[in-house]
Amino acid sequence: MGPFKAALSGKCPQCREGDIFESSALELSKFHKMHTNCPKCGLKFEREPGFFIGAMYVNYAFSVAIIVAVGIALSVFNIYNLHTFVLSVVGLILLLLPFLFRYSRILFLYLFGGVDYQPRD
Ligand SMILES: [Zn+2]
Repeated sequence: MGPFKAALSGKCPQCREGDIFESSALELSKFHKMHTNCPKCGLKFEREPGFFIGAMYVNYAFSVAIIVAVGIALSVFNIYNLHTFVLSVVGLILLLLPFLFRYSRILFLYLFGGVDYQPRD
C-alpha cells in the first residue's frame, strides 16, 4: 500500500497495515479513540508525550481551507451575507469534525512522526 492510500485509510505509517484508530470515524461516541500501539507492528503512535498537540496546527490549516472554500463557494453564488457565511463555516466544521480530528493526527504522524516504512513479510 502506498503512503497516500495508507494515510487515507488511517493505517500505521511504519507497517501500513495496522489501524491507528480503534473504530470508524462515523461512530461518533468513539471516533477519537486511538490505539496506543499499532496492532500489527507495535509502533507507539504518540511519539513523545504531548506529540499530538502539534496536530492542532494541521487542524487549523484544514479549518482555514474550509473557511476559504466556503467564502469562494458563496461568492460564486453571489451570496455576501455574514450570517450565512459564519453558519456555513461552523456547520461544515462541526459536520466534518471526526474527519478533521482524525486526518490532522494522521497527517501530523506521517509528516512529523519520524517513522520510516518497514514492510512486514
Ligand atoms: Zn504498524
